[in-house]
Amino acid sequence: MTLVEPRDKCVREAAPVLKTGRKWAAKKAVGDAKAALRIGDIMGQVQHGRGGLGFSSAPPTWHKAAPAQRRKMVVNEVQKQEERMRCIKAISQAKQGEWMRWESVEQRKIGWQDLWSVEQSRISFLIRSTYDVLPSPQNLNLWVGEDPSCPLCSSPATLRHILTGCKVALSQGRFTWHHDQVLRCLALALEDKRNMTNKLPPVPSKHYTQNITRPGEQPPRKGVKTNPRPGQLEAARDWKMLADVGQRLIFPAEIATTNLRPGIVLWSGSARLVHLVELTVPWEDAVDEAYERKKLRYAQLATEAEQRGWRVRVYPMEVGCRGFVAHSTTRFLRDVGFSGQELRRTVKNLSEAERSSNWLWLRQKDSGWGPQAQ
Ligand SMILES: [Zn+2]
Repeated sequence: MTLVEPRDKCVREAAPVLKTGRKWAAKKAVGDAKAALRIGDIMGQVQHGRGGLGFSSAPPTWHKAAPAQRRKMVVNEVQKQEERMRCIKAISQAKQGEWMRWESVEQRKIGWQDLWSVEQSRISFLIRSTYDVLPSPQNLNLWVGEDPSCPLCSSPATLRHILTGCKVALSQGRFTWHHDQVLRCLALALEDKRNMTNKLPPVPSKHYTQNITRPGEQPPRKGVKTNPRPGQLEAARDWKMLADVGQRLIFPAEIATTNLRPGIVLWSGSARLVHLVELTVPWEDAVDEAYERKKLRYAQLATEAEQRGWRVRVYPMEVGCRGFVAHSTTRFLRDVGFSGQELRRTVKNLSEAERSSNWLWLRQKDSGWGPQAQ
């Protein structure tokens, strides 16, 4: 487009013919993308996903765009079409296309920098586990007819069984170890946030009304940065936290009496606010199911604490065993005040759950599992 469409006649005539190969021709791809963009103009703004009407931002219109903008739009459109073809192919593949059914997890991006810095075996495990093409006994049985049974419990050993389902592995504490690795990572991030918040100057009065324009006041001018929505931690400076990592969590008696052990309890006496965080590390397909199960588990405890005058927020959250962080997790982090770079870093750290999965995978044939081996 840069060479074919400029106003200068000499440049236009000097444009080379691009020969890109048999399967893909630049000219055809650009033509298709332009046609799709023109059709987009005719259709106008359409709804995507489950957001409310008018929730998404309006895409730029083709007929109003400047040449440079048009080039960018065509590149985006070609990428979108390639992605669409990939999805069509994935739907037709029962096993490799399973990720199409994961609704509640965040997208994961592996950039060039990650590819360079992370060791090859980890990237290989991540990609092959995502598409479930690792040589698990079940897959080996399919490919070369080997014994498909689990070395620990002799039921059919799929990758899901090895990472989240094996009863013997569960009794040995492998999955608890895996869960604790992720919980520790989350607890460390929250502990930093808690310490930082507690050190801040005292809560200003009417803290939550600062973005509201009162009658007679001028609304903030466009372009002037207003404060973002404050996190829930901003409401107090006496946050306390307990995490069920390393030692057994005993639920704080001032809130309620129970023998339930949520992963993390974060509370403030002055704001009378409690956060109950329950982390699960499920198979990615089962994220929604885990969320509902955990939500029910803490309903009674929440009611009891509310009767004592606490406001209770129950946050079941999931980090998939292959490192895909669920929306519930990012929602919680945003609610307590993580944003921008800090949020991205925490999500990235949590998504390294696949590291522990890799370890579980490597140790699948060892019958023993003890503290010395970890
Ligand atoms: Zn097993």
